[in-house]
Amino acid sequence: MAAAAADKRVWRNARLSTLAAGSPGLGIVEHGLIAAHEGRILYAGREDEAPASTLAGAESTDCEGRWITPGLIDCHTHLVFAGDRASEFEQRLEGAGYEEIAAAGGGIAATVEATRAASLDELVEASRPRLKALMAGGVTTVEIKSGYGLDIETELKMLKAAKALEESETVRIERTLLALHALPPEFRDRREDYVRLAIDSILPAAADAGLASAVDAFCEGIGFTADEVALLFEAAAAHGLRVKLHAEQLSNLHGAALAADYDALSADHLEHADEEGVAAMARAGMTAVLLPGAFYALRETQRPPVDLLRRYGVPMAVATDCNPGTSPVLSPTLMMSMACTLFGLTPEEALAGMTRAGARALGLAEECGTISPGKAADLCIWRIGRPAELCYWIGMQGPERRIVAGEDA
Ligand SMILES: [Zn+2]
Repeated sequence: MAAAAADKRVWRNARLSTLAAGSPGLGIVEHGLIAAHEGRILYAGREDEAPASTLAGAESTDCEGRWITPGLIDCHTHLVFAGDRASEFEQRLEGAGYEEIAAAGGGIAATVEATRAASLDELVEASRPRLKALMAGGVTTVEIKSGYGLDIETELKMLKAAKALEESETVRIERTLLALHALPPEFRDRREDYVRLAIDSILPAAADAGLASAVDAFCEGIGFTADEVALLFEAAAAHGLRVKLHAEQLSNLHGAALAADYDALSADHLEHADEEGVAAMARAGMTAVLLPGAFYALRETQRPPVDLLRRYGVPMAVATDCNPGTSPVLSPTLMMSMACTLFGLTPEEALAGMTRAGARALGLAEECGTISPGKAADLCIWRIGRPAELCYWIGMQGPERRIVAGEDA
């Protein structure tokens, strides 16, 4: 990402939805102003209460009454991959199930083959349009997982591709190692060997190269068992990496509670999570990441336990899960819309899910996700009448302007 702006900037005559902790609901400020210096927010509040010192010498933008929200945060994606899986879409429409396609060597394995075959440059360029689409939709921070390499070389290549994208685009990127995503075909009869390779070789290599800040796994009947995930999480902790988990998407293997035992940042999907899992997440201070795109694409009917998550006070993030098989989603606001329509979130919860809670799910709660003094000046300026429009429109355009670290992006 480009260096932070040195200039002082002010956005005035705006309506703010700050999402700031301590403010009720969306943290709405009418007649608002945001001042930033060197890419950080100095002041966010009423224009007539802004200290003169925050305005002196600043480049000023008249927002003409537009709404400003925090930049959107997509905290769960698999957007780096080669090839595409449009043919599976056709198969599923003809009646094949996700598990059936996976068992027949399709699914993740097909993407693994294409991703292994691609050079680093090819992988970067194949992934760039997807990243650009999310950015155009208002995303200023995005998490990208590996998991289509399933060998040392390709897992690292995927993380390097994510790093190259961050260096060449105006967006923050968090990188997550997902070596336990699927069993690679060459290890079909040597499951334990692959788990050992992931834990003893791939994880240390990614950690030593500084290519990942977190470790994830797919805890599922067609993925990895809770025992295998526990071994991985032990190793992650030994390497100083935070963990998160694809948990309870298709069945309940009690992954959420397992993740809680390892002080995980988040458990993601959670359609089949039970009260015990949600209570464990609450105790561990975890974030629930809801992924309505996969729910929609797989035509699932079991919804995540939103009422339980509310009752236990577990923050709910919303993300695209952008991936070639089960969630080929390129629009963050569409996910906010689906979180409301399919999962019953309020528009307020959905916007918090793509901002404040998304930051929390990435361990970035102090850095971004709300419009608060001291945080990065990552903002979206929207031409809307009220924030609920971000969830109301199905397939709406992105923000009129996107600001990253105080600069137009
Ligand atoms: Zn995922």
